[in-house]
Amino acid sequence: MDYKKPLPIVTETNRPFWDSLKAHAMRLPQCDACGKFHAPPRDFCPHCLSDKLTWKPVQGTGEVYSFIVMHQLYDKTFADDVPYNVTMVKLDEGPRLVSNVRGPNDAIRIGDRVKLVYDDVSAEITLHRFVRL
Ligand SMILES: [Zn+2]
Repeated sequence: MDYKKPLPIVTETNRPFWDSLKAHAMRLPQCDACGKFHAPPRDFCPHCLSDKLTWKPVQGTGEVYSFIVMHQLYDKTFADDVPYNVTMVKLDEGPRLVSNVRGPNDAIRIGDRVKLVYDDVSAEITLHRFVRL
């Protein structure tokens, strides 16, 4: 593979997330104290500040919470993609992910039901994207 776009920085804190995407089975940290999931991964729960977290699988379904369509080229590696959408998806478990919805940009609507798909962009990194249901 010859992926030229910027890649996420994998850290000790977020490594289980990226490993789960690579395995095509997204997992997110769920708080043992309050039960809420969160994203992006942190060392503590942003809802109640507990550091007792357990990585759990999520369903991969949710809805379009917000989106924009990028027409400006800020990074030349995206030259073949403009215009492209940057979409915030609210997972059914609660967390919101900044991602991308495949398909025509003008078909996207806030509230659209979406499903997670996996994009293996390198040997080490798989990105999350969504398709409309
Ligand atoms: Zn919590």
